Formats: sequence, C-alpha cells, structure tokens
Amino acid sequence: MKNSELIQRDLSVLWHPCTQMKDHADSLPLIPIRRGKGIWLEDFDGNQYIDAISSWWVNLFGHCNPTINAALHDQLEQLEHVILAGFSHQPAIELAEQLIKLAPPGLTRCFYADNGASSIEIALKMSYHYWQNCGNTTKTKFVSLTNGYHGETLGALSVTDVPLFKKAYQHLLFDVFSVASPDCYHREQGESWQDYSHRQFQHMEALLSMQHENIAAVIVEPLVQCSGNMRMYHPDYLQLLRAACDKYNVHLIADEIAVGFGRTGTFFACEQANITPDFMCLSKGLTGGYLPLSALLTTTKVYDAFYADSPSIKSFLHSHSYTGNALACRAALATLNIFATDNILEKNKTLIQLLSDATKPLEEHPHVSEVRQCGMIVAIELVQDKKTRTPLPAQQRRHIKIYQSALSQGVLLRPFSSAVYFMPPYIITPEQITTIAQVAQSAIDSATRDI
Ligand SMILES: *Cc1c(COP(=O)(O)O)cnc(C)c1O
Repeated sequence: MKNSELIQRDLSVLWHPCTQMKDHADSLPLIPIRRGKGIWLEDFDGNQYIDAISSWWVNLFGHCNPTINAALHDQLEQLEHVILAGFSHQPAIELAEQLIKLAPPGLTRCFYADNGASSIEIALKMSYHYWQNCGNTTKTKFVSLTNGYHGETLGALSVTDVPLFKKAYQHLLFDVFSVASPDCYHREQGESWQDYSHRQFQHMEALLSMQHENIAAVIVEPLVQCSGNMRMYHPDYLQLLRAACDKYNVHLIADEIAVGFGRTGTFFACEQANITPDFMCLSKGLTGGYLPLSALLTTTKVYDAFYADSPSIKSFLHSHSYTGNALACRAALATLNIFATDNILEKNKTLIQLLSDATKPLEEHPHVSEVRQCGMIVAIELVQDKKTRTPLPAQQRRHIKIYQSALSQGVLLRPFSSAVYFMPPYIITPEQITTIAQVAQSAIDSATRDI
C-alpha cells in the first residue's frame, strides 16, 4: 500500500483534530504512518521522520518501546478493563500509590479520567464543589493566566486563553478572571526572568486581595505555557502564588499535563518552586504516549470534604466509562519503571545541555528574537524584525513552510505561527539533536529568505 491510497481513503471518511481539512485537499499532504520504532516514524512510501515533538508531547521513550510493549502484552492476558465503580484492579492501585509517592508531599488521593481536558474539568468541579460542601457558597469563580491553555472541552476552554481555540465558542463558556501572564518574553531589556515574574505577580496579588471571597481556584501551567508558544517563567511566581492562595483561602490547580514527567528537568515542574498545589492534573507523558489516561491528584483535606453518609450531595459523582483503564494504568506503570531503572532524569541533564548547545547559534538568526529553554523544551521565537520584535504576520503562514521543509528533511516539527520548538522523546541521541537543530535552522532559513 502507498501513501496516496491511504490519503484518499482517509480524506473521504476522517475529520482530523486541530486541522482545517481543506488544507489537506489543497496544499498540505497528510502523512499516513505505517510503523514507529524509537524516535522514528515511517510512512507507507518508506519515508522516515524523527519525531521531534513526541507525537504531540506524549511519547517519552520512543514508539513501540520493548519494555512498555511487554508490560501491555502481559496485562492483556490478565485484564483489559473493568468498571472502576464498585470494583478495582491492581494496576490502578499501584499507579495511584506510585504517583502519590512521586508527587509533591501532601497529595494523597488519585482520581482517574482518560484525557487531559477531563482531568481539568474534574479539578474545576472538585474545587467548586469543595467550597459548596464547606458552606462557602460565594466561591464560584476561577482565575487563569493570559496565554494559558488547559484543553478544549467547555470548562477547560473557559479557563484557556488561546483565541484560536476559544473565539468561536465564547458565548458557551463561563466567565473567568484573567490575569496577565508572567511570560518572560515580555520582560524589559536587561530585566531578569526572576524580576519580571515577581513584577507580574502584582496583578495576581491585586486580584486575589480584591476578589478572593468569590474565587474557588487559580489554575496555571507551571513554568511553561506550552500551547501558548512555549512561553516560560520563573519558579518564584509559583512560590508567590502558593503563598497568596494560602493567605486568601483559594485553591491552586497545577496543570502539569504537558510539563510533568521530566519535561522541565525535574519530575514535576512544581518541584522547582518547592510547592504542593491543591490539585495536580497529569496526562500526556503519563502512559509514555501509549494510551489515553489522566490522573488528578489532590489532598486529604479536599477528599475529606466529600466523605459523608449517602445519600448526600457531598459525593463527587463525576465518572467516565473508561476511568482507570487497566491497560492504560499498566502502560503508565511501565513508564514509571523506566524512569526509575534507567535513571532518566540524570541522563536527561546531558541531553538538556546538548539541546542548549545545538540551538544557541540560532540566536544570531536575523528572524529569531529569542531561543529559550526549560529542561527538555526548547523554543525558537520567530520575528519579522529582530530589533522591534515585530511578530511574523500569521496570515503569511511561514510556519507551514517550516513544517514542510523540515518534513522533507526527515524531521517532524510542528511550529506555532511564531515559534519553532523541540519537545523530543528522552531516547533522542546526541547525533539526532544535532540533526534536528540543523534541520530547524535550514527550514527557518528557507521560510524567511524573502522577508
Ligand atoms: C494537552 C494539554 C491539555 C489537554 O489535554 P488533552 O489530553 O489533549 O485533552 C491540558 N492542559 C495542557 C497544559 C496541555 O498541554
């Protein structure tokens, strides 16, 4: 079978995520993948691509990883899935135990769902419901950061601030307090990330001091606003936020869906600020990129507020059919096992340095205003004009040219309209790091040559 045949069949029945389907009919061919092995993807025509974005930030240890495959084969012979209400199973229990052990101290309960956005919905509902259960009925609002992203179901989209995803649905969404992001791309020349993050915190402090009686929770992506162009900020912001949430009796929801599992250098991003959120949302890397699963971790204090005689409106009755799927939990356990046995965080330190070295030269590029990095995430900000930092006009769609140029050189990048980024799986080799940096450079060159 060839690419062309599958493309034709696909386009007559499928509707793809995050895609204007007409692009595929016009100029942008779909790529049907026949197999994956390690960092490599291979299409039906035999072309190979380095998966430099971990298949949308989920894959940690490569495609068809032998360890995870073996665990899943074993689990398949025992139990594929069972209802998690009234019943339980070993992988769900073991995974909860291990996540709680790895998480910041004080997170003692694990609630499963099957995707990131659902874990956000659960965090929002649980926080809101907690205050109701405590008789605190005015605390009904949420605070989120500008440029933040928390998923695309209606609750998650309400706390998201990426116009591209949000605009069409504005009237369906609930109102939130939106606070200026600590995104350090906007710091003054010569100002440190730390100083800027402190300065930006004043907006949050001002809102909380005025509105805390109406606020259930603040939700943030710790350290990196990933879907918002991989914008980054200093851990001090999280520390200040934790202290303010305590002072004003407001929950802190840490959305670690993208930044968890070693992405920022530490196992969880919150560790860099030495804080424990009231809710922590996990997904993406949780199963090593194998199966859909998410986990919401919370505290004994929250759990206890729902613990009551039934029938009672105190119970948290949220459910999904596939809650705590056994295969997904088993893939997650195998993933955690690789972290422990292969000393991944320590090994990643070398990769993080290599990524830094390989992308440093791009700072000199006439259409790059900044190369920033947080652990295993590197972003290269593209501009029309380096001095004024004028962004590339989005309608020129130069990022699509970069995407196509990189693909033709055997690298899967998926640039935002104003930033190219790497979020590679942790099995990437030093040679492959050099390759993706060179390919990004040449793709940026060819897409900006006529400016
Ligand atoms: C991807 C993502 C989500 C949504 O997760 P899905 O599994 O795609 O629903 C939420 N928050 C952040 C920070 C994400 O990166």
